[in-house]
Amino acid sequence: MADTTAQPSRSRDLDKLLLRPGHLVGPNFEPGPELRDDLKEYAKVLVVGAGGLGCELLKDLALSGFRNLEVIDMDRIEVSNLNRQFLFRFEDVGKPKAEVAAKRVMDRISGVNIVPHFCRIEDKELEFYNDFSIIVLGLDSIEARSYINAVACSFLEYDSDDNPREETIKPMVDGGTEGFKGHARIIMPGVTPCFECTIWLFPPQVKFPLCTLAETPRTAAHCIEYAHLIKWDEAHSGKSFDPDNPEHMQWVYSEAVKRAELFGILGVTYSLTQGVVKNIIPAIASTNAIISAACALETLKIVSACSKTLSNYLTLSIYLKITLSCFYPEQVLRTEGRICICRDLQYWKR
Ligand SMILES: [Zn+2]
Repeated sequence: MADTTAQPSRSRDLDKLLLRPGHLVGPNFEPGPELRDDLKEYAKVLVVGAGGLGCELLKDLALSGFRNLEVIDMDRIEVSNLNRQFLFRFEDVGKPKAEVAAKRVMDRISGVNIVPHFCRIEDKELEFYNDFSIIVLGLDSIEARSYINAVACSFLEYDSDDNPREETIKPMVDGGTEGFKGHARIIMPGVTPCFECTIWLFPPQVKFPLCTLAETPRTAAHCIEYAHLIKWDEAHSGKSFDPDNPEHMQWVYSEAVKRAELFGILGVTYSLTQGVVKNIIPAIASTNAIISAACALETLKIVSACSKTLSNYLTLSIYLKITLSCFYPEQVLRTEGRICICRDLQYWKR
C-alpha cells in the first residue's frame, strides 16, 4: 500500500527524540537533523533471525528510522508460523523467511533497504558481522546466541591502559521469548557482562518451534517432539495422545528413534521422551511484539544516544498481570572483580 503522506508523520515522534535536548539523554548526545540522517544513512543494523521475533524487529526498526537493515535466517516458512510471523502469507510457505520478510517490510515502508541472507549464521565470514553498527538478536536457541556473542566479543580490543577501545565494541541487543515470558538485554563487549558469562540466567531449554521440529531437527528433543506433535496426528487420525498411556509413549519413543537416525542425532531415550512430551509452551504473538518493541527502542538509544540505555536486562512476564523488571545481575559484577570473565578467551583471535 503506497502512502505518500506517511513519511512526515512517521518521523514526527522520532524527531521529538532526536531533535531536542533532554535530561535522560546518553553521553555525547547532540540533538539535530544530522542525527536523523546518521540513522538513515550510516547506521547499519543486522537482525539475526526472521521468525516470530525477527518479523517484529524488522518492522519496528524500519519504523524507528533505520534505513539500512540486513537479516539472516536459515529457515523456510512453515504453515505453523503463520499465526504470529505476520509478514508471511500462505503462498509463502516453503520460501526462505529472510527473503520474504525483507521484501514485505520494504513493500510497506518506503525508503528502507533490507538485505536478506538465507543461510546459517556460521556460514558468514567474521568480517560480515564486523560491518554492522549493531547486531540485534531475535533467536530461539542458546547455541546461536553463544555463537554471535563469541563473534562480537572477538572484535573487542583493549588499549594500553587495559580499557576497551570504543571503536571495537560491537553492541548486541538480545531479545528472547518463551510463551508468556520474555527478555530484552543489551550486551556491550568489555562494558557489560557478555552472553556467555550470564548463560546461567537461562532456564534449561525444553520448548521448540514447530518449524524447527519439522524442518531442521538438531537435538534428540527435537526428534521426540516431532514424533509427538506431528507424527502422532498423521498416524492416528483423531485419536488424541495420552501422555500417561505407556503404549502411546512407547510409540512416540520408537518414532523419535527413527527420526533421530534419519538426521544422525544421538541421545533419544525413553525417559527423555517422557520428559520432553509433557512440557509444551506455545509461541505467543503478544510476547514477541512487546519484546521486539523493547529491543528496537534500545537499538535506537544505542545508535543515537537519545536516551540512556537499559541497564541492562529487562524481563517480561504476562500472567495475571504484565510485569516488567530491569536488573543488572549482581552476581556477574562480582565475578573476579571484572565485568566479564570471557575477555581472556580470545575467541577466533589469530
Ligand atoms: Zn563474558
